[in-house]
Amino acid sequence: MSLSLQVEVCPGCGNLYQPNAYPLCPSCSMQEHEQIATIERHLRRNRFLNNDEVAELAAIPKEKLRTWIRKGRIKLYDYPNLADSCDLCGEPTRQGKLCVDCSTRIRADIRQAFEADRRKKERAQTVHSYFSRR
Ligand SMILES: [Zn+2]
Ligand SMILES: [Zn+2]
Repeated sequence: MSLSLQVEVCPGCGNLYQPNAYPLCPSCSMQEHEQIATIERHLRRNRFLNNDEVAELAAIPKEKLRTWIRKGRIKLYDYPNLADSCDLCGEPTRQGKLCVDCSTRIRADIRQAFEADRRKKERAQTVHSYFSRR
């Protein structure tokens, strides 16, 4: 039988704790559960609240609210005015990590890079067949 004493540092309060299902110590994860429950209570009462309003009502930092939305702890589909924020420009987004503008721009960039790569390969191909023909 091996006895391993594993401890981790809680990112919430800095105390050591035994690893569990959550990346927080028991007291912080309980606190987090309660905060999320508070947010959900406010949202059930009024599902049209936006991020600012619900953060203020639940007395929770907006950044925390956003983190929970990002992690899927708070679901957006029932709450039309709640949003995550774009990783690049910080604009509200309800579809993944980027807003519509940024994801469109990035897709265009990727397509351009892909095109350039394809042309380079085509050119290499042409040179190759030129040499093999002789
Ligand atoms: Zn803690
Ligand atoms: Zn953006």
